[in-house]
Amino acid sequence: MPLKKSWVESANSADTPFPLNNLPYGVFATDDLDPRCGVAIGDMILDCQRAEEEGLIALGDAPLFDVPFWNEVMEEGPEAWAALRDRLTQILEEGSKDREAAEKLLVKQSDATMQMPFLVAEYTDFYAGRNHAFNVGSLFRGPENALPPNWLHIPIGYNGRASSVVVSGTEVRRPWGQLKGPNDDKPRFAPCERFDLELEMGAIVGTASDGPVTVDEADQMIFGYVLLNDWSARDIQAWEYQPLGPFQAKATATTISPWIVTRAALEPFRTDTPEREVELLPHLKDTGPMLYDIELSVSLAPEGGQPTTISQTNYSVMYYSSAQQLAHHTTAGSPMTPGDLLGSGTISGTEKGTLGSLLELSWGGKNPVQIDGGERTFLQDGDTLTLHGHAQGDGYRIGFGDCTGTLLPALSDPYARG
Ligand code: CA
Repeated sequence: MPLKKSWVESANSADTPFPLNNLPYGVFATDDLDPRCGVAIGDMILDCQRAEEEGLIALGDAPLFDVPFWNEVMEEGPEAWAALRDRLTQILEEGSKDREAAEKLLVKQSDATMQMPFLVAEYTDFYAGRNHAFNVGSLFRGPENALPPNWLHIPIGYNGRASSVVVSGTEVRRPWGQLKGPNDDKPRFAPCERFDLELEMGAIVGTASDGPVTVDEADQMIFGYVLLNDWSARDIQAWEYQPLGPFQAKATATTISPWIVTRAALEPFRTDTPEREVELLPHLKDTGPMLYDIELSVSLAPEGGQPTTISQTNYSVMYYSSAQQLAHHTTAGSPMTPGDLLGSGTISGTEKGTLGSLLELSWGGKNPVQIDGGERTFLQDGDTLTLHGHAQGDGYRIGFGDCTGTLLPALSDPYARG
């Protein structure tokens, strides 16, 4: 499918993240406008609240767009999602008869502040990248015990905290926690010394379920995708993670990109999950291409310095798709809710420079990564981390918008009051 042309000129360049083919959903505010739903087109945002007020969009149980989240649209269901996408395309395409009415509803992205695009109902993080699981397992337990015995049979995950999910641009503070290194005879309470990122995709569940769903049904339940940085305190993790998995190591913050890229926009980029060395049980087998060809990269900028790309990889290297993860999530009966967020697990390729965490890039802190004006094993205070992602089409891109965060120093005393 080639670039679809829009009357919004900036949406027609080959390198804009937001051509008419994309139409991602976000929540924005300006000096004059309260937070509301909008759709990105080129370097502009179409104000969906005003488009609905003026009758340009009429959909479901209106009003849907005057609130600072997309959950109400999700709750309208897949037919409404398709109808909205068709209508927005009609409004914004070249030669549209709605141009004159819609032109007045455009806001410059540079004048807008992006907020969380949806209310996170619950947050689950998986561990579905084979290379990442092998690397981290090797570092924590040795290569002979790297992959847990269940790993090739189920997408393993843990229940995270919806309350800790923040939008791109939110500052993140280095946490304190209980640490015990391999040579320490007892634990101590101190600021994290090994604060890290994890490059992931987040899948947003758009429809409810009550009881087990198939992989195909799960795929149809997904509303869209965001970039996701699962900030990780490695030294806290190493001490706490057995036997129930990470807890405080992952509780500081999880940053997502501000635009929900819909499953519909990603359809042309579907790819198969990799060859499997162990056959999956029938309820988890995929029935078609369930991953996406999405080019991903990570850049790190020290305070006052320039960003350096420290990793480049692709979402298609994952072992399990979000649909398989969602299907597995429901097998024991847990209901799913619109706004549930599923982290993919860290996305790492096989080579140096394709790894999705500093833990792997620096191999447990042994091999520093070169950046502008210095080197890193783990993050330093003032570092700004940015995830980038796009699917490359024929003369156009489906971009996600940056997922960025700056690390603030730890408090001097986290229990000081007043
Ligand atoms: Ca993770």
